[in-house]
Amino acid sequence: MRVAERISVIGTGYVGLVSGTCFAEMGHRVVCVDQDARKIDGLLRGEMPIYEPGLQALVAANLEAGRLDFTCDVGKAIQQSDIIMVAVGTPAQPDGDVDMSQVKSVLHAIAAYALSSKIIVMKSTVPVGTGGWAENLLRNRAMPHLAFHVVSNPEFLREGSAIQDTFHPDRIVIGSEHREAGERIAAMHAPLGAEVLHTDRESAELIKYASNAFLAAKISFINEMAHVCEKVGANVTLVAKGMGMDRRIGPHFLNAGIGYGGSCFPKDTQAQLKLAQNVDYDFKMLRAVIEVNQLQRQRFVVKIEEAAGPLDGKRIAVLGLAFKPNTDDLRDAPSLDIIPALQERGAVVSAYDPAALTQAAARLPGVSLCTDPYATVYEADAVVILTEWSEFRQMNWRLARCLVNTPLLIDGRNMFEPEAMRELGFTYVSVGRQTAY
Ligand code: NAD
Repeated sequence: MRVAERISVIGTGYVGLVSGTCFAEMGHRVVCVDQDARKIDGLLRGEMPIYEPGLQALVAANLEAGRLDFTCDVGKAIQQSDIIMVAVGTPAQPDGDVDMSQVKSVLHAIAAYALSSKIIVMKSTVPVGTGGWAENLLRNRAMPHLAFHVVSNPEFLREGSAIQDTFHPDRIVIGSEHREAGERIAAMHAPLGAEVLHTDRESAELIKYASNAFLAAKISFINEMAHVCEKVGANVTLVAKGMGMDRRIGPHFLNAGIGYGGSCFPKDTQAQLKLAQNVDYDFKMLRAVIEVNQLQRQRFVVKIEEAAGPLDGKRIAVLGLAFKPNTDDLRDAPSLDIIPALQERGAVVSAYDPAALTQAAARLPGVSLCTDPYATVYEADAVVILTEWSEFRQMNWRLARCLVNTPLLIDGRNMFEPEAMRELGFTYVSVGRQTAY
């Protein structure tokens, strides 16, 4: 018989809400806490604060079953649970260091309210050494007879497929200095049937940064290859395919385009670089990965300008704003750099995204946001793809061809076969492949 744990998840964002709901689904009693009362009230009414496929139904089912609850009352949640998962944000500070203020305030709350010993599971992505620091902080601030074991359990879910990723993880990493605590957290994951890697706490903390840095490196590598391909007349899609067929390399994260964005890769690569600097190590390769990614956005603006001519007064239709498909997340999305750069050059920008329009209204002033792709491309001098939503693949491009002023399609995500778009009458510009016209 499996033990149903009493868990509170502090921070009900992309990670906390999905993880909390999935643990409830696995039979545990979960209360998700957030300081944002509007978010909690909405969740109690069944309204999702984020767009994540499958989440609404799973939340509703577990609320109904009484295994899941939402609250702003952090003290009560802490007192009523044995395991506390920390899933608050760890954004980057301007100097690249991690802003730990949200984590710190959670630890202070645990120290203030805990009346019994707890296992603290660190799901937030935090710098190496956080586990030890957190345990010290709790020891110094909480009631002296209580024990706190901080377990590093980095989260690897991806927005857009977060539920699938949680239920079918590649691995579970558990970094604990206390055997029983580590085993108890491993037991919670047992129904998933995933491989569990037990490590020391520092290694677990570093595995998360190392994984994101390596994935980011794959992306920047293929983007550098794309430039070489353009210059020598090769096709980066085929180059990546040929590389990916080698099992030592693998096919994933080798899609050339406008580079990575989102709430994790940019800040986590910066944090890893800073972490190395803080111990007097210059992580040259990672510095290049970050620089290439930043350049990729600027180069794409130049690509648009070269294809469309001077942008002053031109109507540019942008398809896709979120940093990747199947999410409404705009954090550090390439669109937030590329669109203002087009506007600075005098372009008049219209845009459409299947999920991110509400967020975009506040972040992209001066952009005319449309509720369908056809209205967006109407009378455009160029159509630009920034996110590879499958909706764009299924669009009626023959109709789009009739609606635009100039049949110029500049695809930052290499969604289409150049020849197919040429046959539809477009001049088709992509990344790392020859222009078709
Ligand atoms: P998020 O910004 O979506 O959610 C964080 C939530 O914490 C917010 O709702 C905020 O109101 C709440 N919060 C902040 N301080 C609080 C406090 N003191 N008490 C209660 N609630 C508080 O963040 P996220 O994207 O879910 O990321 C959380 C962590 O997980 C970060 O460290 C991130 O790097 C890591 N992570 C994120 C992803 C992802 O895909 N988003 C994947 C893996 C790891």
